Amino acid sequence: MARIAILLSDRCHPKECQWECQAYCPPVRMGQECIVEGPLGKPVISETLCIGCGICVHKCPFDAIKILNTPEADPAEIVHRYGYNGFRLYRMPVPPPTGITGLLGPNGTGKTTALRLLSGAEVPNLGEYDRRPEWSRVLEHYRGTSLHAHFERVAKGELRTATKPQYVDRLAEHPATAEEYVGEAGGAARAALAEVGLTGRTDRRLSELSGGELQMVAIARTLATDADLYLIDEPSSYLDIVHRLEVARVLRRLGATKSVLVVEHDLGLLDYLADQAHLIYGEPAAFGVISHPIPMRTAINTYLTGYLKDENVRFRSDPVRFVAHPPKPVGRRNVLVAFPALEKRFPSFHLSVDAGSLAKGETVGIVGPNATGKTTFVRMLAGVEPPTAGTPPPGVTVSYKPQYLKATQSASLRDRSAALAADPTFDAKLFERELVPGLHLEEILDVALPDLSGGELQRAAVALALARPATLYLLDEPSAYLDADERMSMARLLRRQVERQAVSALVVDHDVYFLDLACDGLMVFRPEGEGGASGRGEGPFPMREGMNRLLRTVDITFRRDAETLRPRINREGSVLDREQRAQGEYYYEAAS
Ligand code: ADP
Ligand code: ADP
Repeated sequence: MARIAILLSDRCHPKECQWECQAYCPPVRMGQECIVEGPLGKPVISETLCIGCGICVHKCPFDAIKILNTPEADPAEIVHRYGYNGFRLYRMPVPPPTGITGLLGPNGTGKTTALRLLSGAEVPNLGEYDRRPEWSRVLEHYRGTSLHAHFERVAKGELRTATKPQYVDRLAEHPATAEEYVGEAGGAARAALAEVGLTGRTDRRLSELSGGELQMVAIARTLATDADLYLIDEPSSYLDIVHRLEVARVLRRLGATKSVLVVEHDLGLLDYLADQAHLIYGEPAAFGVISHPIPMRTAINTYLTGYLKDENVRFRSDPVRFVAHPPKPVGRRNVLVAFPALEKRFPSFHLSVDAGSLAKGETVGIVGPNATGKTTFVRMLAGVEPPTAGTPPPGVTVSYKPQYLKATQSASLRDRSAALAADPTFDAKLFERELVPGLHLEEILDVALPDLSGGELQRAAVALALARPATLYLLDEPSAYLDADERMSMARLLRRQVERQAVSALVVDHDVYFLDLACDGLMVFRPEGEGGASGRGEGPFPMREGMNRLLRTVDITFRRDAETLRPRINREGSVLDREQRAQGEYYYEAAS
């Protein structure tokens, strides 16, 4: 079987190791040039001489090598390849002239690359990484296919594209105001800002805006661009549930007359937003294969099941299952943590949270719009923000994963856990046996924390937090930067750990599928008074009541998919939507 050998160039530090990859390679020891020094001073691994033993993968002190079998996809389907030992993308999505197409797959499997190729920001090299890519070769290669017409327009400069970039936090470095920045797109800036709900104070500089506001500004700028194809990379990051729905509505209006391609990991949102989707499967950083387009409902069901029937590909061993009924309300007799009413007064914000309690083994989600005090509440319980009134329960040990993560030490996760091994407040055995495999951290154990991607750092931080023995776990937005697969597996792991250890957890999050899989109950936060000057937190409520309270304010209802039992947002005004509103059942079917 042929191999793919990948060198993760940014992790490879050939001056800081003993070239273990080469020294231990059996073919090299037999005198074959299987691993040689390349022109950049880094190893080049021959895919034809490699025997697939995996010794270099294990010996590399920086986890910089991957050796895999070639995917079933035809080598002739390679659209782009980043270098000899680089990532390769097979096949392309072809967005229809109108409507919304989703792109759904794990991080590192080529979604952003596909968007860049579609827009012409990068010319496809068709796998010939060592030749200058030329449009003439691309057009010749795709002659007679639907991609030909697309690339022909790109090559001639006739296809106008507008891209909403993935990392909106980088906009904060831009010196412009929101209105100036959106105005640069050439269209009506004010109208676009109003469309995404940003009307007041559009003269503020981008550096003064929150992550959620930057996301809305980035979307507004894309809307203000007159284009034929709109490429939207992760529109939900930093947004609360209200704004996620708002973005979905705005993009649906755009899709009525334009072609829109969206990369999104919030499955409930993508399901509501898109008409069809391409799934991407493969091995992160090594290769990605883009499936044929699948109608939306089937696309998400296929994704959850983990099996692409028409291509006979299993891309996940265990299907994700939902349950149609709410979890049984946890018995209040099992109370583990009881907190009194808490208040916090900032100069321009006042938060009050009702008294509540958490049972043994219970995971409770904290939901609600941004700027209603969710993070402040969690910080009060974590002991980092003193309440103005009320005292967090004494004697409750907490372990806290903050919302914003920053790797300050150059150590790797393995170094961190080794340093903590003797610490009684760290369970090294749990970390190694359950959390590292459960959160798929094996491959990044030796990478310096500052070199991790956003999603990798998130998983590392959650693992470190869960490895601290505590009564109460506080996780602030653990799904941020994770792909859909990572969200599902983290949700299940969290619930299992909390149950098994008979502890409690509070989790701030905005992803409904994540919350559904992880939680037994919900606390609901809402704005109070005029202009967002105060917030109120209530609960914990059982799931049914919590969801009803949240969704009534957001004004949407969910039904259940017959096949996978996953929640699906109802179309506004549909028969089910009207019936459920009348019954006051926004999330679960009426109690039977
Ligand atoms: P996704 O958007 O699905 O997370 P990307 O398209 O950003 O995936 O990247 C896929 C893989 O391609 C990454 O793992 C990265 O290693 C590699 N890659 C992306 N851009 C480049 C580049 N300019 N040069 C070399 N490798 C790249
Ligand atoms: P959420 O987590 O629901 O988005 P936060 O708890 O982060 O809400 O913030 C609620 C409000 O409190 C915001 O308006 C924020 O500006 C304000 N706030 C948070 N921390 C501070 C602080 N240290 N000083 C002053 N105001 C703050």
